[in-house]
Amino acid sequence: MKKLFLSILLIPILACQNQTIPTNIPELLDNNPTTTYTGSTGNNQLLFDVSYNTPVLSYKIYSTGELPANDPANWTLKGSNDGKEWTIVDERKDQLFCSRYQEILCVVQNPEKFKQYILEAATINNDTLKIADVILSDKNMKAGWENFKYPKVNFKSLDPDTEGSKIYHELVQNPDEYVKYHTQKVAEILYFSTADSIVDVQQIDYTLKDYDGVSAKGGGSPNINIVYSTQHIEKSAKESLYKLDFETRGVLYHELTHGYQYEPKGIGNYGNNKTFWACIEGIADAVRAEAGLFDMSTRKPGGNWMDGYRTTGFFLQWLTTKDPDAIRKFHRTAKELDVWSFDGAIKIVFGPEASIEGMWNEYQEYLKSQQ
Ligand SMILES: [Zn+2]
Repeated sequence: MKKLFLSILLIPILACQNQTIPTNIPELLDNNPTTTYTGSTGNNQLLFDVSYNTPVLSYKIYSTGELPANDPANWTLKGSNDGKEWTIVDERKDQLFCSRYQEILCVVQNPEKFKQYILEAATINNDTLKIADVILSDKNMKAGWENFKYPKVNFKSLDPDTEGSKIYHELVQNPDEYVKYHTQKVAEILYFSTADSIVDVQQIDYTLKDYDGVSAKGGGSPNINIVYSTQHIEKSAKESLYKLDFETRGVLYHELTHGYQYEPKGIGNYGNNKTFWACIEGIADAVRAEAGLFDMSTRKPGGNWMDGYRTTGFFLQWLTTKDPDAIRKFHRTAKELDVWSFDGAIKIVFGPEASIEGMWNEYQEYLKSQQ
């Protein structure tokens, strides 16, 4: 009896609401965090109706480049097969985004097959809701990484009165969480899962400092330190807050890779061997490129795989067009080869017939065809 009463009461209300609920909002579905959906104050309903035929197992919600007060803080994801009866599949309270343009990844608590989904969301104080993107996935995007061990992060701004330091805090609300988030993202590109023997980084000192430069990493696992220049922050922010975010994350991917990467064996060290150096800096820029944080229009034919940084990094990232795991496999050769070389690494990843010259030449042909 109770159930019957409820459905009689609910159907007309929801059927009526359905016509006005914003549906498949382009700004939320375009995978572009600079386009913002601006809702209303209080609780907002957003409908995702694209005839899903497998259960949504996880989803991501992205904060915008606007004020944290407009971020979603409390939300419920509901599913339905008829647009009338809605079932709660996931619910979150008091969520805080650690920065602007940042994702929160949620694994759905009660996955079930539904045709459409409604996200009901409100800000912490019922201000106007603003969201950058929503991604619903039929995969568990956390799979293999549930047990990732985060390092302890100590953030310090040595020159808090600089313009760069102030802008940094407009972008990043919680620096410790922001750095931790990126440690896992770097590990996801370098390794297959937490079952791999991931370099044990236990502590990261992350420092903002007023100096003429970009960023640098010091120390070695388990304790590393990274400094990031407030002058570079100020310069990067001139174009936009998003440009600053793009640059800050990109630099962080590169420096954190140095914390998490294996070092090639049997060929000396960073200071005395060019192959060692090119491998280390090439992989760091490959990880940044794989994260989508380089302007790929700077990628041009020419140079050599021994040039390090972008020249090597873009090449290694291009290898993922042949094998999606190419960066992970290439990185693993630093552990597998007793005397590391580019050619030896390419042979492990692509077979004994492959060679560094052959692969590089093919890459050059590809770049020329893109000109
Ligand atoms: Zn580097």
